[in-house]
Amino acid sequence: MKTNPAEGFTIDFHFKFNAYTERQYYEKNFPVYIKELKKTGAERIVIHRPRPFLEQHKERLENMSARIQYEEIKPVLYTGIFGTENIIENKFLLPWVQRNKNGELLSYMNGGARSAMMCPASPYVTDYLAPRVVESARAANAKSIFLDIPWIMKGGCYCSNCKDIRESGGDNKKIVRQGLERFVNTIKKEIPGISLGVNSSAPGIYLHAWHGAEINNFKGLFEEYITEWTPYQWGQKPEVVTKCILNARGKAEGKFYHATICKDNNKNLYPADKLSALFKAILDGGALPWLCVNASNSQLIKISEAWRISNKIL
Ligand SMILES: [Zn+2]
Repeated sequence: MKTNPAEGFTIDFHFKFNAYTERQYYEKNFPVYIKELKKTGAERIVIHRPRPFLEQHKERLENMSARIQYEEIKPVLYTGIFGTENIIENKFLLPWVQRNKNGELLSYMNGGARSAMMCPASPYVTDYLAPRVVESARAANAKSIFLDIPWIMKGGCYCSNCKDIRESGGDNKKIVRQGLERFVNTIKKEIPGISLGVNSSAPGIYLHAWHGAEINNFKGLFEEYITEWTPYQWGQKPEVVTKCILNARGKAEGKFYHATICKDNNKNLYPADKLSALFKAILDGGALPWLCVNASNSQLIKISEAWRISNKIL
């Protein structure tokens, strides 16, 4: 049976557009790679929001996005929602960082002040982050925005920005939910019709450490939910993938994507049969693949074949 998939997969291998000095490399390689990607079945490409967003970054983003769209691929803009931020370079952000009960700054992957997490209850979300995301999303003509790190770090935030919510009985979950609501409402007002997605991988994996990231805490706010989003998830088992997606789909309504790095524990791309089994498991769960892989041209061919097999495109 021959069927065409309604849509293809999303590819996210940290497209950078702030390497301004590498203009020659970019001019030579980027258009070729995009053409190859299109052939594999990619429908969307995730591009990452640079910090800071200078004029040359804007030019590159516009150029990149135009080339992607020329191949009829949709750009998706990536951003962290509550950081991370470099507080050493941006000291003015210090009043808005997440803090534990002892008043110590909370950071991502123990990165300290260079990767500080920002408090969802602080003005960071609407006054600092949202205008920058809007500017980037407009420059990229993004059709959707993906929010990563939608949580408070281990132990919870007890900074002065959280005080009012805590005194009225709110917990970490409520602090995150309200921060997300403020951000989503601001973005929707500025760019009506844009689709918003969120990293929904925490349940069952990191919930003990990252607060507020339960998928039911995102319910009704987003159009897209991405399960198993993590670039560090080596060796995914197809037999648990469908179960994971169905579980998430039982908790929120929207479009679902399942992230994978397509590699085993030795960082080798899965063999063709494992890759197509994984894609099939994702499709069986009612989701589309979100590939976090920096694939070479030969690996792209392998991915393409697996995608075609799992979609029954012969
Ligand atoms: Zn706080």
